[in-house]
Amino acid sequence: MARDRAVDVLILGGGPAGSTAGAMLAAAGIETVIVEGEHFPRFHVGESLLPHTLPLFDRLGVHDAVRALPHTRRKDGASFVTHDGSKHVVYWFDEALPPAIPYAYQVRRDELDKALLDHARAAGADVLEGWHATTPTWDGRRLTGLVVRDPEGTEHLLRSRVFLDASGQSSFLASRMGWRFPYQKHRKVAAVSHFSGVWLPDGREAGNITIALTDGGWFWLIPFADDSVSVGAVLDVRKWRAHVGSESLFAAAVEATPEVGRRLACAERLIPFSAIQNFSYRVMQIGGDGFCMIGDAAGFLDPIFSTGVFIGTTTGASAAQDVIEALARRSRVEASDFGPTIALTRTLHRIFFSFIRAYYDPHFLAFFFNPSNRLQLQAAVVSLLAADVVRPGTWLRTSRYRLLLGLARLQRWGSRWGRHLVPPLDVAPAGTGR
Ligand SMILES: Cc1cc2nc3c(=O)[nH]c(=O)nc-3n(C[C@H](O)[C@H](O)[C@H](O)COP(=O)(O)OP(=O)(O)OC[C@H]3O[C@@H](n4cnc5c(N)ncnc54)[C@H](O)[C@@H]3O)c2cc1C
Repeated sequence: MARDRAVDVLILGGGPAGSTAGAMLAAAGIETVIVEGEHFPRFHVGESLLPHTLPLFDRLGVHDAVRALPHTRRKDGASFVTHDGSKHVVYWFDEALPPAIPYAYQVRRDELDKALLDHARAAGADVLEGWHATTPTWDGRRLTGLVVRDPEGTEHLLRSRVFLDASGQSSFLASRMGWRFPYQKHRKVAAVSHFSGVWLPDGREAGNITIALTDGGWFWLIPFADDSVSVGAVLDVRKWRAHVGSESLFAAAVEATPEVGRRLACAERLIPFSAIQNFSYRVMQIGGDGFCMIGDAAGFLDPIFSTGVFIGTTTGASAAQDVIEALARRSRVEASDFGPTIALTRTLHRIFFSFIRAYYDPHFLAFFFNPSNRLQLQAAVVSLLAADVVRPGTWLRTSRYRLLLGLARLQRWGSRWGRHLVPPLDVAPAGTGR
């Protein structure tokens, strides 16, 4: 062991969760070190943001910087199409339950993540890029620090009063402690690249994310300011296992999805394909004495509703607040101090994961593609799509969505006798594996 350093707060991961927490802690005058294995900018999936991320960007003071990034594009809503384009529905953010935040952004994550990490650095966080964490250290049940390797390969022990695990999908701590469990029934693989020449809708819809259903999965199309488009296929592993390699998987999925084929007819690929696997898992323990997990490190289900960056920044900010309050009381941070963040994380997972599962139910999809604003059901769905889930009154807003889940159950029950509340969706819907 070459060097030994003691810090107040150690954050692993400089993605949106880690840099949000780092900026808030450093701004509060707390000594903060962020360890990030890569050198930014670096490619990352997760390019479509949700409206209710923006108040936090305002609070951090980064909203103008995010808006001004070269590829940032305003999005006013989310568009959904069936595999052949026969059904098409747009949910506009300004139609959410009031007060609506009427827009969000599409962002290139190399740009966004660098801007957020630079902001944390400017706030006073010490950012160690190219440093890799290998092992957590413990004193009984208290996490006391990390063994990290610097870019030259020298090992260091970073001792900390508090550790925030923002290591994303690798779930550094949960993986090592045996707390990370894949969702066996939700095994997906994603193949993604960026393209030019993709057909985009006219007018206000041009900036929207488009989600296209396909057999055993779905596509996203996320347009950037220069009209280049991120296109990704999220596919059921069992259904698509015959296809080896992200390029062949992507090509086969496009062939099975005429609407995406039409939009990509004149497209040219700009970057190599990336494949992402095993991204659906739950984490049984997300906090303890001296540590808490934030963002993807605390669990992830599916990117269908673009909730990842919202959850990452929201839980990052919450954990920072827990630490600031705990350190103002005493020098240690106990598991109970992270109670608010743990409860918030569990609530966000419960709400969004139920919405995600519903999307894979053809009976729910029948309502989703036939929106009605009776009882403000459509507005309630838009509120969820906008991530309006942390303001007071969430229960009232999600109760309408729960009513929709009940209607989907009635539709399933009635379908046994050929009776339907709304016309069934006449396609092989996402995730059925048909
Ligand atoms: C296919 C797919 C599509 C998605 N699309 C969207 C979308 O459109 N919108 C959206 O909001 N979300 C989307 N997401 C989710 C989104 O990408 C994540 O939720 C988000 O990036 C989480 O941020 P984070 O800060 O928790 O983790 P990350 O952004 O992954 O950051 C973690 C960081 O930790 C670093 N790290 C990890 N381990 C170590 C180590 N041992 N040592 C040093 N550094 C380490 C990594 O280098 C990384 O930079 C998508 C996810 C997938 C899988």
